[in-house]
Amino acid sequence: MCEIGRSAISGTFNGQSGTSGVLFDVKRFALHDGPGIRTTLFLKGCPLACAWCHNPESQQSKPELMIWIDRCVGCGACISACPAGAISLRNGTAQTDRDACTGCGACVPVCPSDARAIAGASWSVDRLIDEVEKDCLFYDESDGGITLSGGEPLAQVQFARAILSACRDRRIHTAVDTCGYAEWSELEVVAHLTDLFLYDLKHADGDRHRELTGVSNERILENLQRLDSFGRSIWIRIPVIPGVNDTEDEIAALGEVVRGLTSVEAVHLLMYHRGGEAKREHLGTPLCPLTSGDDPRGAVESAAVTLQRIVSVPVRVGG
Ligand code: SF4
Ligand code: SF4
Repeated sequence: MCEIGRSAISGTFNGQSGTSGVLFDVKRFALHDGPGIRTTLFLKGCPLACAWCHNPESQQSKPELMIWIDRCVGCGACISACPAGAISLRNGTAQTDRDACTGCGACVPVCPSDARAIAGASWSVDRLIDEVEKDCLFYDESDGGITLSGGEPLAQVQFARAILSACRDRRIHTAVDTCGYAEWSELEVVAHLTDLFLYDLKHADGDRHRELTGVSNERILENLQRLDSFGRSIWIRIPVIPGVNDTEDEIAALGEVVRGLTSVEAVHLLMYHRGGEAKREHLGTPLCPLTSGDDPRGAVESAAVTLQRIVSVPVRVGG
């Protein structure tokens, strides 16, 4: 049962202070990020840049400006508000020079049509724990808890550690959704305070992994082996992207990675959806280069059949 009302801890690790960090979302009553009813905390910043990312606003560590240009009525209020002189009116709408924008957010509250928002805000651990504690009753009733997601939680390792430690003090179940791309020392620190890992695997081939995410999978696979020996519960999560990693051979190779691991309790296959593409437009970042028109549901269901032939733990479609 949760024990609420304790003060949060702080400290330093690898030179980072853990008293505050940057989140881009806090989702209460989450049902797909671990067991039971959970509060999912989305930390900003990620060392990978997956082409299919459905939260592209998570990738940069700093707050970012998002723009819904179709809502702009051309009033010009944001132009006067911008201290960087980054906005000008062209063809009746406000155009923003992304190189000049500092992400200060001064243009957001003056916009009468909600055409602007900042993705990312600083949170103290104390404030975050106040938010988490609101739902202790639901965690207790459902065997739920909190999940650190992102982005990559280990990109703010000291902040992650402080949140996890505060939750442990309160007997709140903790899960960490990670891409596994971190120093082992960082993962180990977090592992001591984590009940369950949701460990993402994208591709078994190192060159293809680098092509798709910007980094090799070598460290990710090594860390998975070490975490398996560490003895924490692990649920593997695989995003199945049509035309990218969904051939029978590609899925089977991921199955071979999982087979033989003793701490893996389940494999969850995540269906591709296109929500990230619209967000990229609002962020002004290049559009996702994925062009396959294949059915995402068909791809994920075929992958489930292939994987279940290889691994002995349950394979499920969905988080
Ligand atoms: S976020 Fe700040 S710098 Fe960027 S456009 Fe808005 S007011 Fe200007
Ligand atoms: S304040 Fe909003 S509506 Fe007005 S010009 Fe700027 S973006 Fe457009």
